[in-house]
Amino acid sequence: MDWFVKVVSIVIFWFLLSALMTMFQGRRSARVINLPIALLIIVITFEHAGPALARVNGHYEEVQQDVRGLTDALNVVGNTRNKVNDSIENVENSPIINFGSKAKLPGRTFSEIFSGGHLEWPLKSKEITQKFSPPDHHGIDFAVEAGTPILAAREGRIREAGVDSSGIYGNYILIDHGGGFQTLYAHCSELKTQRGKNVFDKDVIALSGNTGNSTGPHLHFEVRYSGKAVDPMQYLRK
Ligand SMILES: [Zn+2]
Repeated sequence: MDWFVKVVSIVIFWFLLSALMTMFQGRRSARVINLPIALLIIVITFEHAGPALARVNGHYEEVQQDVRGLTDALNVVGNTRNKVNDSIENVENSPIINFGSKAKLPGRTFSEIFSGGHLEWPLKSKEITQKFSPPDHHGIDFAVEAGTPILAAREGRIREAGVDSSGIYGNYILIDHGGGFQTLYAHCSELKTQRGKNVFDKDVIALSGNTGNSTGPHLHFEVRYSGKAVDPMQYLRK
């Protein structure tokens, strides 16, 4: 604010000086006119300039306080951001949470990171009778007798539950697990849940069967990431 005070002082001084100069050196009429002007300037200066400058100074201090407040707030935001980053790193480095990270895809989102964990086996049996081998086979098969309980591989929401209109999957269920992950259970004899229902992992969602394009009782199990079939063996609990 020093520069402001200086500029105002110089302007006032210049007015005073010019008024006094004409008062003593100018013509008589000029002196008569300039004397009251000089007095007026002196009065105005003392009455208004002082309080005005004080007001300006007061505003300046208020602004300074606001800036200090904003700086403090920004520091708080920065600290919070650091804490969140630390938390994300902890979650990503956690050995338990690797369902999402195993996909090894760049640009993972929050939901992918937090979709972590293994997939549970969809049957009590872990005996696989046909492997994942695209483009011929987009899932894995378990040959089990009809009526065997099929378990949700992970918590999620039932996205589809019904008869496959193309005739391939027969009675099937598609679960959305979030983070772009889905699991599909095909050739069921009976469905035990409905579209829109939420399920937990290991919930019985259907009974196995031989519906759709199937030559014998079995479960066809698929894992999809971003709509594309991926090898379930990468995700099933070891
Ligand atoms: Zn199959």
